[in-house]
Amino acid sequence: MSPLLALENVTVDFDGFKALTDVSLTLEANALRILIGPNGAGKSTLCDTIIGRVRPTAGRILFKGEAITALPEQEIVKRGICRKFQTPGILPSLSVMENLLVSGRKNRAWWRAFTTATPAQEMARAEEILETIGLQDRRDVPAAGLAHGEKQWLEIGMVVATDADLLLLDEPTAGMGPQDTQRTAELILSLIGRHAVLVIDHDMSFVEALNGFTTVLHQGQILKEGSVAEIRADAAVEAVYLGRAKDEVA
Ligand code: ADP
Ligand code: MG
Repeated sequence: MSPLLALENVTVDFDGFKALTDVSLTLEANALRILIGPNGAGKSTLCDTIIGRVRPTAGRILFKGEAITALPEQEIVKRGICRKFQTPGILPSLSVMENLLVSGRKNRAWWRAFTTATPAQEMARAEEILETIGLQDRRDVPAAGLAHGEKQWLEIGMVVATDADLLLLDEPTAGMGPQDTQRTAELILSLIGRHAVLVIDHDMSFVEALNGFTTVLHQGQILKEGSVAEIRADAAVEAVYLGRAKDEVA
């Protein structure tokens, strides 16, 4: 069986600046992949390229065994990839529950919307996601009134509500304290098995809490892949990334 996602020798060139060079990676269905690397390493560009917002200048991207490299973003979304951005995309005047319902409807493939989801089923699924993201007691609060961490969890819930097979989470812990960061790791781990998740971050406490297979990007190239422990023990990673990350945290 082919992997859910495969990048084959992907290169992205922004007018002569190579944001990604010869990047290859695969992700199995329902699996977790962590992507780390210092600022400017090309992490967000990698996400943009998967979702079709940035076009590779060389290489291919396969999703469910089919090339998606040249497809428009909307078509890629329809095939089952959903991306969460660094900045919240929630609708502030709608309640938490309404945000989940809107997101579940808007992004679902039209045939699924017609054939499978009755309003009662949609409601039940939204309630289930509400529980997954731990916001049951915030159900009817306008999203604008949520705390920073809660907004991030709602956003993750909205991505989950699309029912996409692959969720791309770009820095979901941005601006969070240690407790919220820990909770976010637990939330993401609870999604594995139902969705594949590619999560980008540079917070090492978060990466250690996730404790999954990790890819380190540096200057647009894959520097190292392995378990968090292997990444931690790698001298080259320490030199280019962990040293700097410690400075950032301090
Ligand atoms: P990261 O998310 O790892 O911090 P990015 O993928 O955002 O890094 O950026 C990688 C590099 O590509 C950076 O040097 C950035 O300035 C550059 N870059 C990103 N997007 C563009 C663009 N649209 N045009 C030109 N350069 C870009
Ligand atoms: Mg980024």
